[in-house]
Formats: sequence, C-alpha cells, structure tokens
Amino acid sequence: MSIELHCHTTASDGVLSPAELVALAVRRGIRTLAITDHDTTAAVAPARAAARGLRLEVIPAIEISSRKDGREVHILGYFLDPDHAPLQRALESQRSTRLERASRMVARLQDLGAPISMERVREVAGGDTLGRPHLARVLVEQGHVASVEEAFERYLAEGRPAYVSPLKLSSEEAMGLIRDAGGLPVIAHPGLLGDDGLVEELIHSGAGGLEAYYPRHSPLQQQHYLALAARHRLVVTGGSDFHGPGHPDRLGLGEVHLPPEVVPRLRAAARRR
Ligand code: AMP
Ligand code: FE
Ligand code: FE
Ligand code: ZN
Repeated sequence: MSIELHCHTTASDGVLSPAELVALAVRRGIRTLAITDHDTTAAVAPARAAARGLRLEVIPAIEISSRKDGREVHILGYFLDPDHAPLQRALESQRSTRLERASRMVARLQDLGAPISMERVREVAGGDTLGRPHLARVLVEQGHVASVEEAFERYLAEGRPAYVSPLKLSSEEAMGLIRDAGGLPVIAHPGLLGDDGLVEELIHSGAGGLEAYYPRHSPLQQQHYLALAARHRLVVTGGSDFHGPGHPDRLGLGEVHLPPEVVPRLRAAARRR
C-alpha cells in the first residue's frame, strides 16, 4: 500500500497517458495518487474515470511553474477544484506563454546549429503543456544530441544558451490561485532551489506545505525540510516526480516512501482553508 503525490502524464511532459498512469499505479499497489502535471489539470478527469471502481483515490492536483526573485519556483497544489474559472484562465495564459517561449528556444537552437521544427515539437508534445523535455526529445530524435540529459546540459538548462524563462505567474499569484480554487499550495522540491531564504519567503507569502520527501533530496536535506515544516506548522508531502518508464537513474512511480499520515494531514490542511 503506497502513496504517490508527484508525477506527470502526457497532458504535460510525462510519457504515460492518464489511464496508463492509473493502471501502473494500481499494479504498484498505490492507493492514493496525485497527478501534478505542469500548468494543467487536464489529466485529473480522465485519471478519475480510469480509477472508478478501483481501490485507488485520485487527488486533484497540479504543479505550477512560477517566478520569484528571478528564480524558477515550482508550486504544487492539492485538493483544488479543477473547474475553478480564474485558475483555468491563468493556466491557459501561462500555456500560451510557453508556446511563444518554445518558438524563441527553437529560434535560438537554429542559431546554435541544432535546427528543429516547431511543428515537430508540437507533435511530440501532444498534450496541453509544452515544455523543455519536448524540445529535448526532438533534439535527440534529430540526432543533435545523444540523450535528453545532454540536451539539457548543452542547450536547455537554466543558464544554457537556448534557455528562455517560461514564467508569467509570480509564486504569490500561483499560491493565491491554488488557494482560491480551494487547494493547498506546497513548495515543490525545496532542495533543488538550494536557497532557504527563498523558501522562508515563500512560506511567509502563503505556502501551506513543503515537499520534504523527494528522490533528489539527500537524507540530510529531507531531515532539514521535515524540521523546517514542523517549525512553521506546514504539512509535508512527497513523491517520485515520475515522468515515465525508461529513466534508469530515476525512481519509479510510488518509489518514494511516504509515511501514511501524510495523506490525512494534507486532506485536513486543505479542508481548513
Ligand atoms: P519547463 O517546464 O519547460 O521549464 O521544463 C521543466 C521540466 O524539464 C522539468 O519538469 C523536468 O521534467 C525537465 N528537466 C529539467 N531539468 C532537466 C534535466 N537536467 N534533465 C532532464 N530533464 C530535465
Ligand atoms: Fe517535468
Ligand atoms: Fe518540479
Ligand atoms: Zn514535477
């Protein structure tokens, strides 16, 4: 019996469809699943439909890309109403910014001697949210790089020459939208930010939880964020950030172990709002 609170589908940059992800979750013995696609809730309804009649609860969720002090901050949202109109309007606008951003990145790649077509990128993306992994997959397909990792290292990572910021929403706006939609905003993978001052500011501007359990957190970082969450009376969450099978260096769905009290605490914190 396990819990997975961070994963992606074809609605954003994952490789499994919502129904395929649900089927995998059931095979893995997962009982509580939150799909946290980037800037879209499109997978929630099909996942819930696929889980109907099975012993699997699908919690409505999201991962919003936002900016704070020039940094890219990912805000998770749990138990939100996916039909909340202001949320959906903001997400739509964020996704159209992502399209423009991808075109600018494609233009830069052209100048850098790695030409790919925007048409192919959109084809590969298929879903709602276009992201760098889709550009990376096309760069691999066209033989410009050997792997997705190499595509990020050479071109797409923050600070690399084809990188363009995707971000429209501030972290405060993202957290406000999640709260207005009845959900609880949680700071995703704080260890990847590597800046506790920034994390504290996010806590003071409305975060209700901290993703302490994350595959790329060291045991020391996990302990540190559990203590920080306790100090600020925040809920803790966690998950694998699964994007699909075939990443030998990444954890599989449900492979980040979460204590069972995480789910009732998260539910209660979302209800108190
Ligand atoms: P975007 O939302 O377009 O900025 O792309 C961010 C996504 O790219 C993340 O959610 C990851 O799925 C992926 N990503 C970020 N950095 C790397 C990396 N170094 N190697 C592979 N994938 C990455
Ligand atoms: Fe992603
Ligand atoms: Fe993230
Ligand atoms: Zn993620």
